[in-house]
Amino acid sequence: MDGIEQLRDDVATANRILERVGLSHAFGHASARIPGTNTFLMPTRRSPGLAEADDLLVIDTEGRLVSGDGEPNSEFWIHARLYAAREDVGGVVHAHPAACVCLTQIGEPHRVVHNQGAIFAGGVPEYSRTGLIRTRELGDLLAKVIGSARSAMMRGHGITTAFADVRTATVAACYLEESASLQLRMLSAAGGDASRLRVFSAEEAAPLADQIAGSVAGRAWDYFAAVAARNPLGSGQK
Ligand SMILES: [Zn+2]
Repeated sequence: MDGIEQLRDDVATANRILERVGLSHAFGHASARIPGTNTFLMPTRRSPGLAEADDLLVIDTEGRLVSGDGEPNSEFWIHARLYAAREDVGGVVHAHPAACVCLTQIGEPHRVVHNQGAIFAGGVPEYSRTGLIRTRELGDLLAKVIGSARSAMMRGHGITTAFADVRTATVAACYLEESASLQLRMLSAAGGDASRLRVFSAEEAAPLADQIAGSVAGRAWDYFAAVAARNPLGSGQK
């Protein structure tokens, strides 16, 4: 596979992962910047579980359809305005995972409570406005909330992750939901008392930055890609 062909394959796989592991069902989407450009690859307006490499659209950061057939997902502005705001970002994931949504609705910020969650030690800002991101202005607002961070919780809605490439953004989205799910279970076991959680200190979290780098991230991507390839549509739904 050449570079763009591999990128198309990665974007389709990333979208199917979101659905197969239960981060999204009918909604949600992953995209990748075409390197060195202000354009990105993104699926058409249907479940990420149905994404195919040959059906991806090319959209630019101004929200214009550059090539491909079909209508983009209505929240494409999330991707467009993040790529516009962040030159370092090459992959964006937006999904609606249950545990993350639960955290936002009990007013609990993300806390580092396990190893993979430590990649978010820099903080996960909250986009507190409800509703979908269907305009350029709201896309800009979300990008502003994320700032230089790696992700955001979106109140009553979901998450967005922004990393150097789509593989990493996808693995990070999986980690974030796992972390939120554990945090909810810990809160429940602690009678809802967040002060009882043994949150990792910055010093404890720092060495765990490798959980989203190199061979560790590659191993996680290989696993999630295999799940997406082998499991049928709907298998990730609870
Ligand atoms: Zn959404």
